[in-house]
Amino acid sequence: MRRGWRLPRGVTMAEHRSFDVVIVGGGIAGLALASALQGHGLSIALVEARPLTAPELPAQRSVRHFDTRVSALTPRSRALLQQLGAWDAIAVYRQCSYDHMTVWDAQGTGRIEFDCSEVGAPALGHIVENRALVSALLQRAAAGADITLLSPARLLSCAHDTAGRMRVALEGAQPLQAELLVAADGALSPVRRMLAFATREWDYGHRAIVATVQLERPHQATARQRFLPSGPLALLPLPGTGAEHYCSIVWSLQESLVAQVMACDEAAFCAALERASERCLGAVLASSERTAFPLRQRHAVDYVQTGVALVADAAHTIHPLAGQGINLGLRDVAVLAQEIVAGRARGTGPGQLELLRRYQRRRKGENLLMMAAMDGFKHLFEGEALPLRWLRNAGMRGVDRLGPLKRRLMRHAMGLG
Ligand SMILES: Cc1cc2nc3c(=O)[nH]c(=O)nc-3n(C[C@H](O)[C@H](O)[C@H](O)COP(=O)(O)OP(=O)(O)OC[C@H]3O[C@@H](n4cnc5c(N)ncnc54)[C@H](O)[C@@H]3O)c2cc1C
Repeated sequence: MRRGWRLPRGVTMAEHRSFDVVIVGGGIAGLALASALQGHGLSIALVEARPLTAPELPAQRSVRHFDTRVSALTPRSRALLQQLGAWDAIAVYRQCSYDHMTVWDAQGTGRIEFDCSEVGAPALGHIVENRALVSALLQRAAAGADITLLSPARLLSCAHDTAGRMRVALEGAQPLQAELLVAADGALSPVRRMLAFATREWDYGHRAIVATVQLERPHQATARQRFLPSGPLALLPLPGTGAEHYCSIVWSLQESLVAQVMACDEAAFCAALERASERCLGAVLASSERTAFPLRQRHAVDYVQTGVALVADAAHTIHPLAGQGINLGLRDVAVLAQEIVAGRARGTGPGQLELLRRYQRRRKGENLLMMAAMDGFKHLFEGEALPLRWLRNAGMRGVDRLGPLKRRLMRHAMGLG
C-alpha cells in the first residue's frame, strides 16, 4: 500500500471486494442513485475521488455566503428528492421557490411570461445551492446500511472480467468487483473514456460566468432570462433578508468577451451586469467572486454496455440556458433505479444488457429532445440577421398568447408532461 493511502473504516486488504452495484462519482447524481437503490437488498459501493465530508452550510445571507453554484430544480426533481428523503433538509436550510418566469429578447419587443397558476402548480421550480443538495443526499447515503462510501478513492481503471463482471482498481481503496458499474463521474467521465464509449460533442464557443449578486429591488420570486446576441443572462432568485435582495447569475458569453468581463473589478462588473440586465432589478450593488465554466455539448452515443451504465453529466451535458442539466440527470437516476429494482424482482441481475437497454430506451429520447431544443434556442437568439430577429420576437409574442402551446411547453420544462 502506498504511503498516504487510507482504507475506509471496516475495509481490509483482500483480493477483490464484491458488490452488486459500484457507483463512481459522489456528486449530486451518484449520491442520489445510491440513495434510490438503498433498501432493496442490493450491496452498493460509492467511490468518490474527493473527501466526502458534509459541506459547510453558512446561515448568513450575503454575496459571500451563498454557494455560487446553484441549480434550478423542476417540480419533478423536487418530488424525487422528497421520495429519497433529502428534500426536507434542503428546505430547512434554504431554497427559493419561484412562481413566475420572464424571458425577453434584448433586440426587440419579444417577451414571454410564465406563471405557475397557468398550469395549476404551486411553483415553477426551486433554486437550490448545490452544496445543500450534496449535503442532504450525503446524509441519506451515509445512513444506508447497504451503502459503502469509499472516499477519498480515485478510480484508476475498470474492465470487464471473463465471468462478465466489472473489475475496478482504485487509488485509496482495495479493488472492487461489481455486477454493475455506474458512471456518475461527471462531464469528463473517466469510466466513459476507459470503456471507450463514443460521444458526439461540440463546443458552444461560450463560457458561463456564475456569481451571486445583490440587487437594489426584490426579485418577487421571478426567474429572469434576457437573451443578448452575446449569449443569455439568467437571474435566478435567492432567499433574501427582507431589506437585501439576492440573485444567482449565469451569464453565458462568447469566448472573446469572457476574459474581459472576468478581469473587471467588482464595480466595473456590477456596472456591466446592470447594462446586460437592463436594470430589470435596479442597480447591482455587490457581487461575489466569479467563476467561468466552459460550455460544451456532449452526448454519449450509447449509455450502456453489459455491466456498465452512464448517468447524468457522464452521459450528456447541455447548455445551462434552461437549467435542465441535473434535472435530466436526476431523471436518469430515477429510471435506472426503477429498472434495477424491477429487474431484481424478476430475477434479472443489474448488469444484464437487456435491463440496461430498457434504461437507455426510456432516457435517450427525452435527453436528445432537450439538447436539440437548447441548441435551437441558442442559435435562434444569437442571430442578429433581421429575419431571425423578427422570427424570434414574433414567435415569443405568439407563444405568449397561445395558451395551450404555452402550457405544454411549461409542463415539459417542469418535468410534468
Ligand atoms: C454554469 C452552470 C449552471 C448550471 N445550472 C443548472 C441548473 O440551474 N439546473 C440544472 O438542472 N443543471 C444545471 N447545471 C448542470 C449541473 O450543474 C450538472 O448537470 C450537475 O452538476 C452534474 O452532476 P453529476 O453528479 O453528474 O456530476 P459532477 O457534479 O461533475 O460529479 C462527478 C463526481 O465524480 C467524481 N469523480 C470524477 N472522476 C473520478 C474518479 N476518477 N474517481 C472517483 N471519483 C471521480 C468527481 O470528484 C465528482 O464529485 C449547470 C451547469 C453549469 C456549468
